[in-house]
Amino acid sequence: MTRSQRCLSTLLLILCSSHAAMAQQASFHYTVAMPHPDSHHFLVTLDCKGLPGTITDLKMPGWMPGYYQLLDYARNVSAFKATATGGKPLGWEHTGANTWRVAHTPGQSLHITYEVTAATAFVAQPWLDSTHAYLSPAGVFLYAAGYIRMPVTVSILPAPGWKDVATGLEPVPGSAHTFRAPDFDVLFDSPILAGNLESAPSFKVNGVPHYFTGYRMGQFNKQQLSDDLQKLITVATGIIGDIPYQHYTFLAIGPGRGGIEHLNSSTISFTGEGLETPGGRHQLLSFISHEYFHHYNVKRIRPIALGPFDYDRENRTNMLWVSEGLTVYYEYMMMKRAGLMDATALLKDFSGNIAAYETQPGHLYQSLAQASWETWSDGPFGRKGDTVNKTISYYEKGPAVGLLLDMAIRHATQNKRSLDDVMRLLYRKFYQQAQRGFTDDEFRQACESTAGVALPEIFDYVYTVKEPDYAKYLAYGGLGIEAGTFKVYPLEKVDALQLAIRKRWLGE
Ligand SMILES: [Zn+2]
Repeated sequence: MTRSQRCLSTLLLILCSSHAAMAQQASFHYTVAMPHPDSHHFLVTLDCKGLPGTITDLKMPGWMPGYYQLLDYARNVSAFKATATGGKPLGWEHTGANTWRVAHTPGQSLHITYEVTAATAFVAQPWLDSTHAYLSPAGVFLYAAGYIRMPVTVSILPAPGWKDVATGLEPVPGSAHTFRAPDFDVLFDSPILAGNLESAPSFKVNGVPHYFTGYRMGQFNKQQLSDDLQKLITVATGIIGDIPYQHYTFLAIGPGRGGIEHLNSSTISFTGEGLETPGGRHQLLSFISHEYFHHYNVKRIRPIALGPFDYDRENRTNMLWVSEGLTVYYEYMMMKRAGLMDATALLKDFSGNIAAYETQPGHLYQSLAQASWETWSDGPFGRKGDTVNKTISYYEKGPAVGLLLDMAIRHATQNKRSLDDVMRLLYRKFYQQAQRGFTDDEFRQACESTAGVALPEIFDYVYTVKEPDYAKYLAYGGLGIEAGTFKVYPLEKVDALQLAIRKRWLGE
């Protein structure tokens, strides 16, 4: 290094550190107004202060974590304007499909306004009409490239006559309907519901409050729902042994399909009338259990590709079968262990998954890992209705392989360990200690170290289309399977270990 190079690098260091210090002071505050909700348009204002440099790229995410499809939210943005303090217009250009580049002087305050069309009624899209607003945040809030780790505040100005705003975000004390997020990842993970909302009674688990709030929830026994949720959450938190949030909110967005999981909330399509029949209650409580368990499995116990997120492009992984398939597995186990379904119903749920997978023509062509990887192209449930159907759904094969994996671990450890131990290990080792996701190999190591043996056949069921030997693994837990119908049933003749594994697995 020559002397002049050293001077240059010292100068660069000073410039860089002052840039970094300034960036540390950057602040972002959003206001979302909806003065004419019938128009389906949110009016969004972003005030940024302390941005160093002379250009800032404001970007709209291309997708939202939890829904693995590119959704092109930027196309809903219109009427973009940028001004400095005092109203002086700032130059900007649209440099990419989801990027607005604003020119400014270093440290200048920016006042950005834009509109978001919210006219698609879907759990992964923002919605606004005269009855309520649902802010699916990745489709509402532009972020400044390079500042994803910065704190953010949001003020919601509800439409005239609306009283309520519900979200998992932390309220800012003393400011009406104003919330803060430690960074943009948390903001994008925290949907907001506004309107004249209804609630089921709140309840606590281990002292932590849980809320259930929604729009047009219908007539049903709200206390019963809270009691059921309390049982389910007690079971789920007991599996992992830790509650990582300060409060949790279920946001019920009205009739429809689907849900999306978040760190301390979930959005669920919901109408309470479904709870009035045994079949409807089973379906709805299983669905809510699924979205709830995701706050562990996928939000915290997660494949390495799923966070920190790249909002510009597909974030592909082989392991959605773990994140989704094993969440289906635990949705069933939560229902059984909470006493909300019996052993017959549990076995019926697994039979249904196995039959759905085995009768899908794609089971001869696509592995679980491939189904995970290709979901961005194939859709969440594989391709349906193709003339040549070569895909499968990890929602169907995932829980089936989860069942075989759990039985393999219980058998190999003489009923001392189970898949629960794998989930706890992943939570402790990767989420709590390493603070990152795990690789394919690390997931496999966690399973095999828990089992104390290699599990090559189980992982063949993940990475190849090898026909699962259901009879062998189910027999470990004293269960049989009928050829042709895939009906899973308790074996009559079992030895002491088979009986003990079955009892423990059923929580009896
Ligand atoms: Zn899911």
